[in-house]
Amino acid sequence: MKGEIKIDRERCKECHLCIHACKRGNIVPGKEYNAGGYRAVCFVQEGAGGSCTGCALCAIACPEAAIEVYRG
Ligand code: SF4
Ligand code: SF4
Repeated sequence: MKGEIKIDRERCKECHLCIHACKRGNIVPGKEYNAGGYRAVCFVQEGAGGSCTGCALCAIACPEAAIEVYRG
């Protein structure tokens, strides 16, 4: 299954729990700061371990409910 996520960058608090949750490497640290002063993480469709499957482990791990998952 192919998946995709959307990250609400203004909700992100840079805890990186989602990066650890995604075993495919589809979420990477961000460089740009949001209004809260956090560098929101970014989604990459093709991670180091493959493409996003829509497994939602990242969304479950996020304490800020900043991630929405879409499955195709
Ligand atoms: S849905 Fe799964 S594969 Fe896709 S970014 Fe989140 S943890 Fe990674
Ligand atoms: S788990 Fe949520 S708050 Fe933490 S870095 Fe990921 S998107 Fe941001």
